[in-house]
Amino acid sequence: MTVVVVGAGLAGLAAARSLVARGVAVTVLEARDRVGGRTEGMTLDDGTPLELGGQWIGEGHTRMHELLDELGLEAFRTWNDDGVLVLDLLGRRSTVAPRKGAVPRVSPFVLADLAQGMLRFNRLAARTDLERPWLTPGAESLDAQTWATWIRRNLRTRAGRAYFHVACEAVWAAQAGDVSLLHALFYTHSNEDLETLLAVDRGAQQDRVVGGSVRVAEAMATALGDRVRLGEPVRGIAQHEGGVRVTTRAGETYDADVAVVTLPPTLAGRLEHHPPLPSWRDQLTQRMPAGSVIKVFAVYPEPFWRRSGLNGQAASDVGPVKVVLDNSPPSGSPGVLVGFFEGKEARTWARRTESERRQAAVDCFVRYFGPEAVAPERYVERDWMAEEFTRGCYGAHFGPGVWTSYGEAWRAPVGRVHWAGAECAPRWNGYMEGAVRSGEAVADDVVAALAELSGAWRPGVGGTGVG
Ligand SMILES: Cc1cc2nc3c(=O)[nH]c(=O)nc-3n(C[C@H](O)[C@H](O)[C@H](O)COP(=O)(O)OP(=O)(O)OC[C@H]3O[C@@H](n4cnc5c(N)ncnc54)[C@H](O)[C@@H]3O)c2cc1C
Repeated sequence: MTVVVVGAGLAGLAAARSLVARGVAVTVLEARDRVGGRTEGMTLDDGTPLELGGQWIGEGHTRMHELLDELGLEAFRTWNDDGVLVLDLLGRRSTVAPRKGAVPRVSPFVLADLAQGMLRFNRLAARTDLERPWLTPGAESLDAQTWATWIRRNLRTRAGRAYFHVACEAVWAAQAGDVSLLHALFYTHSNEDLETLLAVDRGAQQDRVVGGSVRVAEAMATALGDRVRLGEPVRGIAQHEGGVRVTTRAGETYDADVAVVTLPPTLAGRLEHHPPLPSWRDQLTQRMPAGSVIKVFAVYPEPFWRRSGLNGQAASDVGPVKVVLDNSPPSGSPGVLVGFFEGKEARTWARRTESERRQAAVDCFVRYFGPEAVAPERYVERDWMAEEFTRGCYGAHFGPGVWTSYGEAWRAPVGRVHWAGAECAPRWNGYMEGAVRSGEAVADDVVAALAELSGAWRPGVGGTGVG
C-alpha cells in the first residue's frame, strides 16, 4: 500500500515517519528545496543559528520534547529569568517580573481589570469542545461575535483592553476584529489558557532547540532518505476508483492508494482537485486565512540590555514591533533580539522597503532597551506573507461564523485525501507540537483507511522502518 504525503513540514514528516514505521510505502513531495516548512534555519557568520520561523517549545509540548529525545536533539531554556520585562502601554512604561502570574507594576485598577478579564476568558475557553468546537454550548452566539467585541464588553480600562489587543496580535498575528470569539476560545483552550500562550517560563515560549528548531525536520527527513523529494511543488490530486494520482507542476505523476495533504489551509485549497472538492471543504479553506507576520532580528556584540536589569522582552501597544524577546544563544554571545511585525502592522510595513522596516524595528528596540540598541551589527528579517509556499503565519484563524458553518469539514477526509497540519490539531493547535501530533494522528487514520481498502494488507508487515 502506498501513500503520497504533500509537504515536508513537521506534520508531513511526522506522518511519513509514522507510516513508514508501520510498513507503508511513502513518498513525500515538497515544493521547496528544503524541509521544515514554517520552521527554517539560517546561520550567522560566527556560526550562531537564527530561527526564521517557528522556534519555541512550550512546557506542555510533550510530543516535541519526546521527539527531540528520539532524534538525539536537545533543548535549552529561553532567556527569561534574569531581569524584568518592559511593558509599554498607552504611552506609560512599566516593568514586570517574567514569571507566569507575575504582577505588572501598573495601576491597581488596571491590574484588577486584567485579572478579571483573564479569569473570565479562561473560564469561557475551558468550556470549548476541542474535538468539535462547533458543538460547544452556546457556539452560535460565541461564533457570531469577534474577539474584539468580547474585549470591548468585558475589559473596563483602556490599558486592559490595549493589553488584550496586543495579546491577540501576538498569538494570532491578526487583529481581534478578524478573529471569531469561538475560535479565540477554542485556540486558547487547545493551548491550555491565555497565560500559557503568552508566557515564557511554564508557557509556550519556554524552550528552544539547540542548533535551531529546523533540525527536528531535518533529522526526520534524513531518516526518511530518498522518500522525501524536494523541489516538487504539487499542482493537483485526482481521485479515481483505484487510488489517487498526484501531479506536480513539472508534470511528474505519483500514483498511490491515499494522499495526505499537509499544506497550510489556504494553500491546500489552491490545489487542483479532481473531482472538485465538495463545496463545504472548499468554502472552509476559503475562510481560513493565515495571520500576517514579519519576523525580525537585530544582532549586537552582546546582550547589553541584561546589564541594565532588562531581560530583553517587551510588549507594547504602539509598535510597530510590539513583541520582543531575547534570542541570544545559550553562550550569551552575540546578543540577539527577535521581534515581530504582526497583524495590521505586518500588512502595512510589508509595502515599505527593508531599510524602512529596519529603522522602524530599531527605533522600537531603542525605546524598549535604550540607546545601545541603535546600531545592530546585523539586521535579518523574514516576511512569511510573501513566501509562496506558506503565505502567512503563524497559523490560520477562523473569522466569525466559520466554525459553526463549516466545522464538520475541518479534519474529515475527502475520499482518499486526508488532511494534516498544525491547523488540524485539536490539542496545541497552531504550534509545532500540534503539527507533529496531527501528522501522527493522520497516520493512524490512513493505516485504518488502508486496512479497509485492502483486507489482505496489515500494517507493520513487509515494510522498512525508520528510526
Ligand atoms: C515566524 C513564525 C513563528 C512561529 N513561532 C512558533 C513558535 O515559536 N513555536 C511553535 O510551536 N510554532 C511556531 N510557529 C508555527 C509553527 O512553525 C507551525 O505551526 C508548524 O511549523 C506548521 O507545520 P506544518 O507541517 O503543519 O505546516 P508547514 O510547516 O507549513 O508545512 C507545509 C509544507 O508544505 C510545503 N508546500 C506548500 N505548498 C506545496 C505544494 N504545492 N506542493 C508541495 N509542498 C508544498 C511547504 O513548503 C511546507 O514545507 C511559527 C511560525 C512562523 C512562520
